[in-house]
Amino acid sequence: MTLPLLQSDRIGAGFVHGFTTRAGGASAPPYDTLNLGGKWGDDPSHVAENRRRLAQAVGGVPFVTRQVHGTVVRRVRRDDSPAEVAQHEADGLCTEVPHLVLGVFVADCVPVLIADPRTGCCAAVHAGWRGTVAGILPEAVRLLRAEFGARPDDLRVALGPAIGPCCFEVGPEVVEAVTAAIPDARAHDVIRPSARGLAGKAQVDLHAANRLLLARAGVDPAAVDAIAACTRCDRERFFSFRRDGAATGQHMGVIARRGSP
Ligand SMILES: [Zn+2]
Repeated sequence: MTLPLLQSDRIGAGFVHGFTTRAGGASAPPYDTLNLGGKWGDDPSHVAENRRRLAQAVGGVPFVTRQVHGTVVRRVRRDDSPAEVAQHEADGLCTEVPHLVLGVFVADCVPVLIADPRTGCCAAVHAGWRGTVAGILPEAVRLLRAEFGARPDDLRVALGPAIGPCCFEVGPEVVEAVTAAIPDARAHDVIRPSARGLAGKAQVDLHAANRLLLARAGVDPAAVDAIAACTRCDRERFFSFRRDGAATGQHMGVIARRGSP
C-alpha cells in the first residue's frame, strides 16, 4: 500500500509537501496504522517502519523538534543533523536548502506548511490553540522575511487537518486567550457560541484563527488553503487526542524544497 498524503494546490510545484493520514502504516490498534509519534506507547519498531515509509515518500528523513506549544521557529542549515535538531525545543522549522525535509507532529493541532516560490524558502509549523494565540504564524512569517528576504504577499500556505470548531469546545480561559490575541474573534467566527448551549463554553475555529492571523501578517488570503476535515469527527482517516486521549497516534505535516542540492 502506498502512503497517501493530503496536499494543497496552493503550495506549488517547487516543493514536495503533504499531510499524513492514518493510512499506509504498520502500527496495530489503537495506533493503526500510520502513527509517526514515538511518545505514546506504540511499538517502536512500528513507528520506525512508518517513519521509513514517510521518508521514502517525501525523499528524506524529516527534521523535527521537541514541540512545546511555543512560538520558536528554528532555521535548519545544510550541515545540521536531524538528531541534533530534534533535541531543541521549537514548534516550527524553516530552511532554504533543497531536499531538506521539515516536519511537525500533530493529533488535533493545526499543521501549517508555508512555501515561498520566489526565494525557495519554506517552513513547517505546529499551531495548536496555545501556539496560535501566542502568534507562531506571524513569527514564522517574520522569520522567513528576516532570514531569507521572503515577502509576506509571496507566501503560499496550507493548513492541514485539525480539530474542527464542531469538536473544539473550550472553556472561558481559552476564550479569553483567543480574544486577547484576536479582539474581533467573534465577528470573524473564530469564536462561536457553544452548539450545545452550554454556559461559559464556546467553540473555536483554529483554521479561521490562523487564516486571520496570516492575513494580518500580510499574507494574501487567496494564497491560504485549508484541508477541510475534522480530526475528531473523522475516525477513519485521522488520529485525535481529544477523541481518544493518549491511546492515539500522531500525524505529520512535511515540506521540502525541490531543486538541485
Ligand atoms: Zn468535529
